[in-house]
Amino acid sequence: MQSFDVEVRGAGIVGKTLALALAALGVDVALRGKPTLAVDDVRAYALNRSSIALLRRVGAWDALAADAKTAVHDMVVRGDATGARVEFSAWQQCVAELAVITDAGALEHALESALAAAAHVTRVDLDAVVDATLVTHCEGRAAATLAALGEATLFERNDTGQHAIAARVVSSLPHRRVARQWFRSPDVLALLPFDRPERERSYALVWSLPRERADELLALAAADFERELADAVASDVGALSLASQRAAWPLVVGGAESWSGPGWVLVGDAAHVVHPLAGQGLNLGLADVAALSAVIAGREPWRALGDERLLRRYQRQRAAPTWAMRQMTDGLLRLFAASSAPVRELRNNGMGLVDRVSPLKRWLTARALDS
Ligand SMILES: Cc1cc2nc3c(=O)[nH]c(=O)nc-3n(C[C@H](O)[C@H](O)[C@H](O)COP(=O)(O)OP(=O)(O)OC[C@H]3O[C@@H](n4cnc5c(N)ncnc54)[C@H](O)[C@@H]3O)c2cc1C
Repeated sequence: MQSFDVEVRGAGIVGKTLALALAALGVDVALRGKPTLAVDDVRAYALNRSSIALLRRVGAWDALAADAKTAVHDMVVRGDATGARVEFSAWQQCVAELAVITDAGALEHALESALAAAAHVTRVDLDAVVDATLVTHCEGRAAATLAALGEATLFERNDTGQHAIAARVVSSLPHRRVARQWFRSPDVLALLPFDRPERERSYALVWSLPRERADELLALAAADFERELADAVASDVGALSLASQRAAWPLVVGGAESWSGPGWVLVGDAAHVVHPLAGQGLNLGLADVAALSAVIAGREPWRALGDERLLRRYQRQRAAPTWAMRQMTDGLLRLFAASSAPVRELRNNGMGLVDRVSPLKRWLTARALDS
């Protein structure tokens, strides 16, 4: 049996980034999972500056083609009442960009290339038997992780009853690097400016809807889907045409109460799953990677990698920001799911308030920039 310092179980974006970050520390890593070279994922991720810094450090960010990453300079969030909106601008917040929209497949590919060149990382098959001092669970929201760890994690899992439809669309008008979001009760629709397949005219669409409605929209012919989309968004976006297949994800939210134990930790979606309405799931996972690798780099020379006290330092660092993000996304989801008139009035007034109060806006932006 081969022996390693750390086994990274799950080779999604979080697992691959963790393997690279630990290998850079000289830690011997077994990465369990097949290479994902031809990734057919229509998603694009809104990544914040902390995630970008980490991906740059592990050698993946600068390898991405220019049209696989599009900076967002402004964001407009609209409510369901005419005129209710909040506008965020990078210029007002004194930052270069609010987020960078990144092609999911291109990012997987860049990480695979960095792994192929990395010392200290060995790829192992799903059924390989290996021995490691620390097992890091990066299997995403797959139930197998939690089943294997039994009750130790106390994972709370809530089905939102919604599905997220993702696709690429091309507009008749330039996107001008503006991200747009509609909270339309009960659905939430986001158009993230992107440069693939067409430069300056493409968007990554994420549309979260009740499951039955999502099924209906997926079954529609392209032209009928485009008509439904046109009805859901404002006309200033331009005429939108589908430029990819449509894919859907069931939306479950939740998190583990305990993220670590002797010789194991949870990282990324294996520890917490948030609704994509704030575009923060992967950002949280990459922040976990940064925290865990910093804790491992800073450990006392005599402390073993699987030491529970060491791993609790990681959990302590990540618990508060993750809890805050979960509360915010769950709260927004509940607020915008309610259809009663007083709640609608309250949330539309709330949006106006957020738009007018600069410190509140700055605080919200800061949370999103560094989750
Ligand atoms: C529609 C949509 C849009 C999103 N948009 C954004 C966004 O804009 N910004 C953002 O930050 N986040 C976004 N997210 C969230 C983001 O996709 C996830 O948070 C992120 O992909 C989680 O990465 P992960 O590596 O932890 O898990 P996963 O991507 O689920 O990867 C887990 C890996 O582990 C493997 N695996 C599973 N079980 C095992 C096993 N037993 N052994 C070995 N391997 C196993 C899987 O095959 C997979 O390769 C979005 C999510 C959705 C659904």
